[in-house]
Amino acid sequence: MGSASQAERESAMVRAPSVTISVALCKACGICVALCPKGVLVEGTGGVPDVSNAEACTSCRICELHCPDLAINIIDARAASSTADADADR
Ligand code: SF4
Ligand code: SF4
Repeated sequence: MGSASQAERESAMVRAPSVTISVALCKACGICVALCPKGVLVEGTGGVPDVSNAEACTSCRICELHCPDLAINIIDARAASSTADADADR
């Protein structure tokens, strides 16, 4: 009940932007958690953010741009995919 099929899950994984947080760089300031307009980032163990709902991420990069320690990396799979398609056409 309410469970997504394997194909649906794989499709969502392709569409969802990749939100990566470097535990080594993060100082657990909470700025990204406070600023994310979609609630994608939540406070995790020791204050280091967890990615709770990557599908909701709009790739706005607010978190990436405001992280004082450059600990966040956003890769928009949709943009990366279209770039790869464009490269393949050359
Ligand atoms: S803004 Fe950067 S340093 Fe602060 S909690 Fe988020 S990832 Fe960690
Ligand atoms: S890119 Fe925007 S929506 Fe995605 S996690 Fe960062 S602040 Fe939230």
